[in-house]
Amino acid sequence: MNFSEFIEKFATHPNYCAPTGTGLHAKSWQTEAALRMLLNNLDRHVAENPEELVVYGGTGQAARNPEALLQIIKCLLELDENHSLLVQSGKAVGIVRTHPEAPRVFIANSNLVPKWATWDHFEKLRSEGLMMYGQMTAGSWIYIGSQGILQGTFETFAACGTKYFNGVMKHKLIVSGGLGGMGGAQPLAATMTGATFLGVDIDPERIKKRVESGYIDFISYTYTEAKELVLKAKRDGMAISVGLVGDIGDTLELLLNDGIIPDVVTDQTSAHDPLYGYVPNGLTLEAARILRKVASVEYKNLSLKSMARHVGFMLEMQQLGAVVFDYGNNLREMALEGGEKNAYNYNGFIPEFIRPLFCDGKGPFRWVALSGNPEDIRITDQAMIQAFPDNIQLIRWLQKAEERVEFQGLPARICWLGMGEREKAGILLNNLVKEGRVKAPIVIGRDHLDCGSVASPNRETESMLDGSDAVSDWPLLNLMANTGGGATWVSFHHGGGVGMGYSQHAGMVVVADGTQRAEQCIRRVLYNDPALGIFRHNDAGYVKAQQNMKVFNLDF
Ligand code: NAD
Repeated sequence: MNFSEFIEKFATHPNYCAPTGTGLHAKSWQTEAALRMLLNNLDRHVAENPEELVVYGGTGQAARNPEALLQIIKCLLELDENHSLLVQSGKAVGIVRTHPEAPRVFIANSNLVPKWATWDHFEKLRSEGLMMYGQMTAGSWIYIGSQGILQGTFETFAACGTKYFNGVMKHKLIVSGGLGGMGGAQPLAATMTGATFLGVDIDPERIKKRVESGYIDFISYTYTEAKELVLKAKRDGMAISVGLVGDIGDTLELLLNDGIIPDVVTDQTSAHDPLYGYVPNGLTLEAARILRKVASVEYKNLSLKSMARHVGFMLEMQQLGAVVFDYGNNLREMALEGGEKNAYNYNGFIPEFIRPLFCDGKGPFRWVALSGNPEDIRITDQAMIQAFPDNIQLIRWLQKAEERVEFQGLPARICWLGMGEREKAGILLNNLVKEGRVKAPIVIGRDHLDCGSVASPNRETESMLDGSDAVSDWPLLNLMANTGGGATWVSFHHGGGVGMGYSQHAGMVVVADGTQRAEQCIRRVLYNDPALGIFRHNDAGYVKAQQNMKVFNLDF
């Protein structure tokens, strides 16, 4: 197939889809994998808005514009094992000499010198066509749809249950805003823990997408109907989820007026981006689209004020007994800017629930079947269950996921694994490819939201023991360790889930193509990557990480 035939079949804007099957279009499985994952990110079953090349998280893009995307595809089709492609904010900018165990693609997205790292400066550059927002897994080509955050959200809600409700989420009501790419995982994660869930999104299309993919049970257009549905479900201990079309601030206000205090309140609107990610209170979607274009400063101010109001209601609910936590969208910071002085009176989810996992080098390990065949994932699920017979939580998760998770685009699986476990799983997957038990190679990667790959003082590194929240040497070391280890593609981004100026983070993907070369790369990368998480938390003084330095022979 020549280049134009390939484009016609897989990449006619805005209709993108990954090639599937066992045949190569590129020169090796390493570049074929990058190509398939890039196109998968933009598949309309996966991406929130392929027309704008937006994958998820407000404006998180996979490539800068359609022309830049074509150029990347062309490079990936032609690249050999002694060269690597450089991608700068979604655009191919050069090819360098490397070697077969080096990453095939080096990606840098949305990075700005700290003094210039503001939304205003970034918007100026973006409007001039010089940059794009890479989010975390959008610009680094390892997004797998809402499943990507599903287990993390499940673990978070389950940990919340353990900490505050004696481990029982039945008869508990969780309320949250935002049912987009990542937020759309909340309803399914909540019902998987046994809770009742009410999610609010201003855009009915987003809720319909979750209904279609089986992530949410019902869509409702009126507050009264949604309220009655969830109150009855909570009373009866029914794990159902309802998506209400509306403004989250208004809904919280109505609940407060009705004296209904949810058990848990959080939020997943794209609050990190007050211009493109949050719809100000009182505006219809259409009015918001117009105002954003004609009066961006006014829009942003309205947005910040609405977030202050929104957080004000969350704080009132907290006072009245709700468990309230921030779910990684920088809502508190925006609300503070909008005038809510007490915005930081509730905690983020990392110090609340996740940090102990980070001290074990645990984080969101994921894999994707390049064959496109769901049976391959079923085989990997079974192999993982056999390989980790004592990990009851993992087995419970994999069984639930097999039952309840519909794939979006290429079939994929996520599960949180730690030091030692990731390397073991990686070798297992490579062996499945080597032995022909799965039909084609497997891509192994993770979110940038991980134990040792991110500096984000309002999220992953909030309230570190030694106060080193803003030190971003760590994600750079992570990038270097994974590059040296031989990941198949690596990335370094700025902004991510919390926005410009608030985080820096690194990503890695390593391809299991069944070869000896892959095995060596996997052994190094899947050792280095979680080890960085333990080093980071050991250095910050966490006892659990200090113990793990010994347990995993990491002492030096
Ligand atoms: P998205 O842009 O796909 O979805 C955001 C949703 O919020 C949209 O559907 C939008 O219609 C809705 N929304 C905006 N304003 C609203 C309002 N006033 N009332 C009700 N709904 C409103 O984003 P996403 O991928 O779902 O990510 C959500 C946020 O979570 C982002 O800020 C992202 O950076 C962050 N994030 C968090 C994690 C985590 O681990 N917790 C991971 C990834 C992303």
